[in-house]
Amino acid sequence: MNVYDSDRMGDALAQAGYAPTAEAAEADLIVLNTCHIREKAAEKVYSELGRLRKLKDSRAETGKQTLIGVAGCVAQAEGEEIIKRAGVVDLVVGPQSYQALPDLVSRASGGERVVLTEFPDEDKFDHIPQTPKKVLATRGPTAFLTVQEGCDKFCTFCVVPYTRGAEVSRDAAKILDEARAMVDAGVREITLLGQNVNAYHGAGPDGSVWSLAKLLYALAEIDGLWRLRYTTSHPRDMSDDLIAAHRDLPALMPYLHLPVQAGSDRILKAMNRRHTADAYRQLIDRIRSAQPDLALSGDFIVGFPGETDQDFEDTMQLVRDVEYAQAYSFKYSPRPGTPGAELGDTVPDAVKSERLTALQALLTEQQQAFQASRVGRRFDVLFEKVGRKPGQLVGRSPWLQPVNVMAPESLLRTLQPVTITETGTNSLFGTLDDVALDVAS
Ligand code: SAH
Ligand code: SF4
Repeated sequence: MNVYDSDRMGDALAQAGYAPTAEAAEADLIVLNTCHIREKAAEKVYSELGRLRKLKDSRAETGKQTLIGVAGCVAQAEGEEIIKRAGVVDLVVGPQSYQALPDLVSRASGGERVVLTEFPDEDKFDHIPQTPKKVLATRGPTAFLTVQEGCDKFCTFCVVPYTRGAEVSRDAAKILDEARAMVDAGVREITLLGQNVNAYHGAGPDGSVWSLAKLLYALAEIDGLWRLRYTTSHPRDMSDDLIAAHRDLPALMPYLHLPVQAGSDRILKAMNRRHTADAYRQLIDRIRSAQPDLALSGDFIVGFPGETDQDFEDTMQLVRDVEYAQAYSFKYSPRPGTPGAELGDTVPDAVKSERLTALQALLTEQQQAFQASRVGRRFDVLFEKVGRKPGQLVGRSPWLQPVNVMAPESLLRTLQPVTITETGTNSLFGTLDDVALDVAS
């Protein structure tokens, strides 16, 4: 989501006359877009600001002004505190106020130090111009599109409901317009984003409330839009129509990121996830019977307050039962202001590390098994960029793994059948059919 937000901040600033530069030393304005989800987020920002102070000072010696901004969820959580603690910062802007950036920048360039962390009622993206076609065309054939923001679930470990605010869905018509403009500029794969994307319930163009499934069916109608994905989903919002979309829509890729966090009912309850481990197992069975070729991904937290060896073993068992193609796992860190933070941080760090290592070993084994099961198969790859090796292109499989293939650059942005020959650590290797090579050259 921050990648998408950063691009949209770029769009808002382009309107104010700014153009991007690849070199920080050349920038008149630097905005750090920050994430607050896990520990030490604020510390990382302050140490980065320390580095930027040197840059700002050395540019000042040559008579150049450098404005420094902090955006994102650390900005939202820390607000004024950032201005107090870091003299180098000129502006602080929370994630719901990016439409105000041009104004904030012009005030900051006049010497004012500005902080904006309001949650306005309207959709900030209504007030940011659409990304110009020629800019979109430079961003590759895949794009993110935010459809939903914020969260009302209040899992006890999580800051999102506080930093991103209440759950809000954008209007379907606006999303469809934005998607059409993306496709017109050459985008072929769109990933719909939301903190709780499958809770999407936006106003539809027909006056009814649209679910995420309904939105996906409408997007799948857009000519030239070949692939759809969405992330991140909550198990409780995996509705029947969304499961059916996985069965019915060829454009909807067979990949699902469905975090469960833990496999112990006691811990799930303490986390306020509001489902049991078995309910998750049954849900996965239903999704897999709709789409048997699905790659499942997840998020896990180890060391939530009160987590015993048995609770952790329940998580391991859930992972063994479900089998993930890919996953993210984290040590629990208390986040200020969340109910979890009041429970203390009772699991010693050494125990958390031990559990994380064991969990990650199992998840890596499952990822390797999934990737190995692709060897010998032939499927479409959407080529996104040139690879590290000369003559190589990198694309994505339907299951999101990068696939490295020797292929001419003329095949960038195209979908080509590739036969997988080998698996690497996080990526696959494959070959094109001779016919495709002949046509391309
Ligand atoms: N909406 C998603 C999660 C978004 S946050 C969901 O409901 O599952 C992304 C991930 O960060 C979470 O899935 C969780 O695994 C991790 N995370 C969030 N807060 C955390 C904390 N306090 N400590 C450790 N990991 C955390
Ligand atoms: Fe955080 Fe996800 Fe829970 Fe919302 S559903 S509070 S974003 S973990």
